Amino acid sequence: MALRGAVACGLVSALVGASPSASRASPGPPEPAHRRVLVLYSDERLLRANVVFDEGLRQALVSASWDPVEYYSEFLDEVRFPDRHQERTLDFLLTKYGEQPPDVIVAFAPPSLDFCLSFHSQLFDQPPIVFAAIDIDAFLHADHGVKVTGVRARFDGPETLRLALQLHPGTRNVFIVGEAAPLDPARTLMGWSDFRESDFPVQFEHLTSKPIPELLDRLAHLPDNSLVVYQSALGIGATGSLPLHALTEHMARVSRAPIYAALDAFVGHGVVGAVTTPTSDMAEATAELIAEVFARQSADEMPPVRALAAKPIFDWQQMRRWGVREKHLPTGSIVLSAPPSLWQQHARWVGAATAVFLVQSGLILALVLQSVRRRRAEREVLRRRQELAHTTRVATMGELTASLAHEINQPLAAILSNTQAAQRLLAAGATNGEIREILDDIEADDQRAGEVIRRMRALLRKEVSEPVTLDVNDLVAEVADLVHGELILQNVSLVLEPSQTPLHVHGDRIQLQQVLLNLVMNALDAMKDTASADRKLIVRTTTGEKRAVRVSVADSGVGVPDESIERIFDRFVTTKPHGMGLGLAICRSIVEAHGGRVGATNNPARGATFWFELPILEEARR
Ligand code: ADP
Repeated sequence: MALRGAVACGLVSALVGASPSASRASPGPPEPAHRRVLVLYSDERLLRANVVFDEGLRQALVSASWDPVEYYSEFLDEVRFPDRHQERTLDFLLTKYGEQPPDVIVAFAPPSLDFCLSFHSQLFDQPPIVFAAIDIDAFLHADHGVKVTGVRARFDGPETLRLALQLHPGTRNVFIVGEAAPLDPARTLMGWSDFRESDFPVQFEHLTSKPIPELLDRLAHLPDNSLVVYQSALGIGATGSLPLHALTEHMARVSRAPIYAALDAFVGHGVVGAVTTPTSDMAEATAELIAEVFARQSADEMPPVRALAAKPIFDWQQMRRWGVREKHLPTGSIVLSAPPSLWQQHARWVGAATAVFLVQSGLILALVLQSVRRRRAEREVLRRRQELAHTTRVATMGELTASLAHEINQPLAAILSNTQAAQRLLAAGATNGEIREILDDIEADDQRAGEVIRRMRALLRKEVSEPVTLDVNDLVAEVADLVHGELILQNVSLVLEPSQTPLHVHGDRIQLQQVLLNLVMNALDAMKDTASADRKLIVRTTTGEKRAVRVSVADSGVGVPDESIERIFDRFVTTKPHGMGLGLAICRSIVEAHGGRVGATNNPARGATFWFELPILEEARR
């Protein structure tokens, strides 16, 4: 006895979180008195409902009661030992617990309450009774003259069948598994006491009191559109060593029809569903009631009975087997053994993946921002480059002012002399034909002057023009026109060697004119010290390497010193006292922006050849 007490004490201490040795060592205030709870189960130990309730109640007591609780459970096994066994059980309990009588007895299911009420006057000091798992009015309304409270549960057989018929709409036959002659309605019709077959539009057949092999065989050959209702505690005693829930599992395995019951203890053991108070709810409510009983002011007071609602409870595996969809279940349904969600199953991995995803998203965002910033910076560089190009264009045009003025003066002078000639001829009575010829000349001169001005204005304009398809031979002719006067002034003879066929490129006309103009102006500079007779400029257009268009400008000037030819296109490289060293750098950036390249070589005899290449525009893309 002493040993058992120590074990029980250890268990309780473990439940309340204090070790016995720790409490012995502490000299503090006296420990609170232990309260003893004895649970009397009606049936055997392994009945699922008993196991679930027992575990649930022990756990719930820890949180419901501040006092340490010693917990005991006994099993009346009423069904298997009905006759005269009750007195022997009473003797056994009084002997076993006489020295440490329970402060509360929990009666689980009707036979246990029946036992407690019948023998209450002999039970220790008539402790208060807290019942659980009882859905029968007769017990509740009778005045037993005993301190009773408890948890009223609801095992709703009729509602279970109604719901089952809803979920299996084509059902025609319902097979009832149960015992033919119940020993006691309280025991065998748990949850089915108010069930009437006439309330349901189906055929009922009773598979009652059959030997188990025969029952299993019958279930295996049920007709289509059938349902099975597991109505009574069949099998206690008849199942041999097989626990009842194992029999249910067996039945479900062979059955050709889904099985429903009004007890949640079988959900998860082959039964599809039940409308019932969950056993775990009962355990919690019972623990709370026990705590209230312990805390009551006077021994005559008892907390009121608690009525718990029934809930639809289903087994996910069986739902899948019988094609019951979760969306068809009533709201508030509890689905047991549903597969864990991805998160529940792989929380760590999902967490890690989420973290990686977030980090990656952050990086992507940073990269996007960086790229936005880079693009903005690129746009800014482009804008500055265009501005610089414009400035140098204006500067070049400034260098050309004298020759351009000359270029415009020529046609203007021609126009003037032609006009004077026309006046003279008119005075002399000239014919219409003669006057028309003069007028045609005037028009041509005017157009020539206009063209020079138009080109000048285009080069001086600041706006960026749209890329167009152009023939580089036209480009060369336009630039030649612009520098025509300058060439005359500087005594330079220009040789144009255009290609036989047009060479098309896609580009900005003004910018490309600027490149060529720059090369020509540099060439003129380079020939300043060349004897007038030898000043020669050759502008050639050919197809270059890799299907490129090449425009080259060869002069007979000083040439480029070998050591600087590599970096001649870099910025700020200049040999001129007032040079900026930007012209060639701008040429290179314009040409590269067009997908081309630039280069320079010294000529074998004298002078240098500067060239640029642009991607040729194929016939099909023009
Ligand atoms: P800048 O004309 O202001 O010096 P550029 O970038 O146009 O700037 O030219 C850079 C340098 O390249 C010139 O100072 C000159 O020394 C050299 N250069 C350019 N074109 C020629 C050429 N055709 N012959 C010899 N040297 C040249």
